[in-house]
Amino acid sequence: MTRVFSGVKPTGHLTLGNYLGAMRRWAEVDQHQADALFCVVDLHALTVDHDPARVRRLSRQTATLLLASGLDPEQCTVFVQSHVDEHTRLSYLLECVAADGEMRRMIQYREKAARERVRGGSVRLSLLTYPVLMAADILAYGTDEVPVGDDQAQHVELARDLAVRFNQRYGHTFVVPRATHPKVAARVMNLQDPMSKMGKSEDSGPGIVYLLDEPDVVRKKVMRAVTDSGSDVVYDREARPGPANLLEILAACEGRSPEELSGAYSSYGALKKDTAEAVVEVLRPVQERHRALCADPEHVDEVLRTGSERAREMARPRVDAAYRAIGL
Ligand code: ADP
Repeated sequence: MTRVFSGVKPTGHLTLGNYLGAMRRWAEVDQHQADALFCVVDLHALTVDHDPARVRRLSRQTATLLLASGLDPEQCTVFVQSHVDEHTRLSYLLECVAADGEMRRMIQYREKAARERVRGGSVRLSLLTYPVLMAADILAYGTDEVPVGDDQAQHVELARDLAVRFNQRYGHTFVVPRATHPKVAARVMNLQDPMSKMGKSEDSGPGIVYLLDEPDVVRKKVMRAVTDSGSDVVYDREARPGPANLLEILAACEGRSPEELSGAYSSYGALKKDTAEAVVEVLRPVQERHRALCADPEHVDEVLRTGSERAREMARPRVDAAYRAIGL
């Protein structure tokens, strides 16, 4: 059976981008068709200036929202990265096959490091090595497929490179994974700035729809989305990024294609109105399940405890084999 692994960083409140780009497929497709693991990757939240209490609170909220998005612990394994030591054990070995030049070329590192420097802060070494830890997250489980948004493509590529290199040098140890992306909404853009991604780790603002936003907040954010001075509704990501983003969001919510939808609208007002209502409907069941789960915290504790036990059992033999192969 295909092994699937993916994760979410608890660096902020989960967004519509996280949901449409990744989480929804995990719940609707991957957990049913594959042997799947989904992880709150809390160690990755320590790569930039962080508040310990906030990381703990967000890890819990992220785990609860994974379950609220429809992940069923009977169908897949849900756990928290720091509860399974195999990730950091393997990460060190992979640092010994990664080169510093290839880490410095990572686009996310360059962007985030530049931001930290502008703020006058120092750049944590873990920000540079974060994709190696992510490679360990993936490779420890013999993962075949990593369902992620577009922004993670380069990091999954690195995991592939490290797996191939390790196998060549030390004997076959790791499955070489591949990224899979959704056909539509692989990169949901900020509603106020359609040239940048709708990301939870960036600043909050009216351009980001959060999974727990009330319906009226969602409506307001979508209705105020930046479009352009054009009068026709055309799907063109390069030339018309604002309307294209709305078309992608609506298409993803309704399971249609943005090209097909663009022909159905003659004004931005109507497109925004339908997009807002479609998003409200997509979020409704997630928010309802989230409320129920918050009322039953012991259930979430139990799911995470069982999940980390299962994950540890799955990862340990391969990580032990990697230690032997590399000469320890
Ligand atoms: P973030 O960038 O929001 O901190 P994470 O790194 O925790 O997100 O990503 C969790 C998953 O959500 C990843 O698979 C990532 O590719 C996906 N994702 C994040 N933002 C978006 C977006 N704007 N559009 C599509 N997918 C996204």
